[in-house]
Amino acid sequence: MTNIAFIGLGHMGLPMARNLVKAGHSVIGYDLVPQAIENFVKSGGHAGFNIPLAVENADVIFTMLPEGHHVKNAYEGSQGIFSHIKAGTLVAECSTIDIETTRYIHTLAEAKNVRLIDAPVSGGVTGAEAATISFMVGGHQTDFDALRPYLEVMGKTLVYCGTAGLGQAAKICNNLVLGVTMIGVCEAFNLAEKLGLDGNTFFEVSSQSSAQCWSISKYCPVPGPVPTSPANREYAPGFTAAMMLKDLKLAAQAAHLSAAITPLGTEALSLYALFCKNGGQELDFSGILKFLQGK
Ligand code: NAD
Repeated sequence: MTNIAFIGLGHMGLPMARNLVKAGHSVIGYDLVPQAIENFVKSGGHAGFNIPLAVENADVIFTMLPEGHHVKNAYEGSQGIFSHIKAGTLVAECSTIDIETTRYIHTLAEAKNVRLIDAPVSGGVTGAEAATISFMVGGHQTDFDALRPYLEVMGKTLVYCGTAGLGQAAKICNNLVLGVTMIGVCEAFNLAEKLGLDGNTFFEVSSQSSAQCWSISKYCPVPGPVPTSPANREYAPGFTAAMMLKDLKLAAQAAHLSAAITPLGTEALSLYALFCKNGGQELDFSGILKFLQGK
């Protein structure tokens, strides 16, 4: 049994932390939202009252926070993780954030003799619940190896991507594909309907033909073909359109800084920005189908 602190008990963090509890670890969970901590305690976790108290005795720490500025806030300053952590502690920063902030946090960790990896995830809330998410890891291979037993409790696919920040690079590129393909899939299902082609029939074709992709086969944006997809529950998230917009902005920023050309990423960013501006913000990102349908 290991003493673990888990900071950020939202859509993803709560089920991930629960899986660490199920594996027999002693886990202190902390979130700014008290209800999230109460939900975690009901699953056998311990309540953290603030970051300093949550991390001071931890041997392993996970953070799962929305954006780069939340991560900076959680790690820096007199109330931040780095001011209260033991040297040698293993830390996995699992949020999806920009590569610059990630590398900055790695630098702070090295100065404190803390063994930190960036380990963003893919697979959504259902994957977090089922412990089947993928981790994309950046940092030292030895630190990844030391954290592997804990990551394996929460996920199925663990890929070492390289030095500090390259886990984030993989995640950002992955979600660039996801944002673009989801829009393409929604366009095709919308067109199919206009042409009089039944959505279930088009699913049967496209999920087994050259159009096959995750956005169709695992997360189909029309109700019916994939019972677990958000389309069957009025596009309740899942993964919000606001989060997808954030990730496409991260891709645009990374593309700008590395002089990569990503025209479809730019177009997807504009469409998700419009969708969010028109009320789609808190809907699942597959709900962009409704927007394309003019609904
Ligand atoms: P969320 O908003 O549901 O959860 C984030 C939690 O962090 C919130 O409960 C918030 O109160 C808490 N928080 C913020 N600042 C804090 C602080 N200083 N101390 C303690 N708690 C703090 O977000 P989520 O959906 O769980 O996503 C988390 C990260 O994972 C994001 O970067 C997201 O892009 C990424 N991600 C999400 C999904 C998904 O399907 N939701 C999938 C893969 C990756």
